[in-house]
Amino acid sequence: MAVNGTNGAGSNGTLGGEFDHGTQVIDENKEFTSSMPDYLNATHVLQAGFAYHLISVFGSQSTGKSTLLNHLFNTSFPVMSESKRQQTTKGIWMSLATDPDATSDPAKPHMADNILVMDVEGTDGRERGEDQDFERKSALFALATSEVLIVNIWEHQVGLYQGANMGLLKTVFEVNLQLFQKDKATVHRSLLFFVIRDHIGHTPLENLKNTLLADLNNIWYGLSKPPGLESSKISDFFDFAFTTLPHKLLQPDQFVAETRKLKLRFRDETPTNVKYKSEGVLDTTESGVFLPAYHRRIPADGLPHYAGNIWRMITENKDLDLPTQQELLAQYRCDEISIVCVDLFDDVVVPFESALNQKIVQENLGPAMKTALDTAISKFTEEAGRYHKGVYKRKLEDLEKKLHARLRVLFVAQLTAAHKSAVAVFSDTIQKGIKRSGADFATLVAETRTTVLADFIAEAKSCSLDGAFPYADELKAVELELDEGATRLRGEEMARLLTRMEKSLKNKFSSEDDGVAYMFKTISPTLYPRIWTLFTDNVTSQISVFTQKSTALNATGEENDQAVYKLKKRAWRVLRGILDEETKEQSLITRLMGYFDKDFRYDEHGVPRVWKAGEDIEGTFAKSKETVLNLIPELATFKLEDGSSPPLVKFIGDTPAGIEETSAGVDDDEEDEDVTSPNSPKTFTILTPGRVTSLTESFNRQADQAFVDAKRSTISSVSQ
Ligand code: GDP
Ligand code: MG
Repeated sequence: MAVNGTNGAGSNGTLGGEFDHGTQVIDENKEFTSSMPDYLNATHVLQAGFAYHLISVFGSQSTGKSTLLNHLFNTSFPVMSESKRQQTTKGIWMSLATDPDATSDPAKPHMADNILVMDVEGTDGRERGEDQDFERKSALFALATSEVLIVNIWEHQVGLYQGANMGLLKTVFEVNLQLFQKDKATVHRSLLFFVIRDHIGHTPLENLKNTLLADLNNIWYGLSKPPGLESSKISDFFDFAFTTLPHKLLQPDQFVAETRKLKLRFRDETPTNVKYKSEGVLDTTESGVFLPAYHRRIPADGLPHYAGNIWRMITENKDLDLPTQQELLAQYRCDEISIVCVDLFDDVVVPFESALNQKIVQENLGPAMKTALDTAISKFTEEAGRYHKGVYKRKLEDLEKKLHARLRVLFVAQLTAAHKSAVAVFSDTIQKGIKRSGADFATLVAETRTTVLADFIAEAKSCSLDGAFPYADELKAVELELDEGATRLRGEEMARLLTRMEKSLKNKFSSEDDGVAYMFKTISPTLYPRIWTLFTDNVTSQISVFTQKSTALNATGEENDQAVYKLKKRAWRVLRGILDEETKEQSLITRLMGYFDKDFRYDEHGVPRVWKAGEDIEGTFAKSKETVLNLIPELATFKLEDGSSPPLVKFIGDTPAGIEETSAGVDDDEEDEDVTSPNSPKTFTILTPGRVTSLTESFNRQADQAFVDAKRSTISSVSQ
């Protein structure tokens, strides 16, 4: 029959058939199996971090180890049936402890959570040999992983120094020394918890304990210790605890009651609470067994990899160096965790990366960047932070660098797009603003600049990962471009203004009512002086209007001076054009003939003359012709009443600085030889000597014709 009371249907049974008896860590062929991750996952230990415990049991074969574990921890390790006495536990099994007695009352003493129990195949004192090798290997494995080693021993074996158990303990001590040879600085303490079975009660526990301790010390002193550890004491590496249990078959009730009490000792303990009987020896009945110092500090999710590596090193007969193993584990696990973190990061960031080629400002990028980074880093910190600190820090830096590099690409692209958008919005808003209201340009620019920059800063800040990515230079570049844009827009606006002013001057100059054409109706020595006054008055008043408007555009004094200078020059050019128009030969002849006719054909009352014989046609003709001929030289040169040239150059003023450079939008067609240029000596020559001659000839011809006509009319009247 199967041993009863194994609680075989404990809570582990709910895991399903595969894990009915826990999981086999090392199989009967001494191979490390791959089932541990699944088992830890199914039992929810995988995510426990350091909040788990690992213990192992040691002892000769068929000494009731599995039976004990099943009672203590509600596990279902296979036990030997009483009828067929043969080895049942093959290799090493692992199972999660549960406590059916547990209450939800935290005040009541209770077993620790997440205790992983390893049931190690026992050795049979009778046939050793090959098994001795496995015994050594499994002891090494258990020591490298377990916090507490339960040593299961029958009372009657106590004091049998040569007994199987003592051989086993010798092995444990030997491998322990081997383990710490490499790294004497970090001492991993373990607790050897002796459970003395079939305690009859004649010999008190205290005596049994002393006997065992004496034996243990004997074994320890008998060992050949590696260099540096010659004078080490057994208590440098181990704590000891002792307890007894009654015979399970003879005293079943007491056995159950005692195991119930015993399991409560498998609880977390704070170092200050621990009571020691003597050096390294825990108080037999009081303290919990899980001291922090025993924990191997392998996070649960790294345990399968760590255990597998340890087993591989052991079977390959390599020196086991636990600190190195922990570093290797940390590297492996940090890389694994890093991949998961990058995946989480990708979920958020990849869509933004894919949209990069659109070169637009991506909405919500800043918060997404922050979330992605925070999620990835906090997951990494939480899970990888439990591993070897040095490795963890290095891997964290690597991860941060990698993620930052990717975020920086997004950041830079976002800023580039935001820059472009800021400049576009700026010039668009200003152009619309000017059209809408002709509003004060300076205010419009200042307000738009503030708004656009505020938007840019907000975007840059939100993507800056709380200052990890600075953006001062980018901001400066935007400001610079906005200011350049403002200057350009103002230049364009100034150019438009200049053109408007020029047009308005042209209208005034060519006005039929009081313009140049009107003045030409009265050709006299004061014609050009009057036109000069017309010119200077209008230009001066136009300039004051212009200056007002250019001030509203926030133009600099220099820009204004340049524009005024241009306006004056253009005004002159316009006037000169009109003068040329007015002094075309045909129109001048018409005007001059008008003067001549007025004098010659009409009398002082404006009545047309009818020449009679004897009247002084010749005298009147000569006088009239003379008067008109005297006008022609007057028209030839534009001059003031005193005969001097008008102070045009002075009126226009010196060429302001920068006139060559800032010709943007303003046509600056300076040609010094042009008769319209104020600097040209010919600018005041309205009629060249050649034209004066041809004009005089034309006039003479027409006037002579008038004389001939007049003469002819008297002859015909006489002849009638
Ligand atoms: P293991 O090989 O050490 O795991 O031993 P098992 O738990 O498989 O038990 C071996 C045999 O010892 C079984 O037949 C059990 O019934 C018996 N056994 C279990 N507990 C006790 C006990 O407390 N005292 C004695 N004398 N026998 C026990
Ligand atoms: Mg067993």
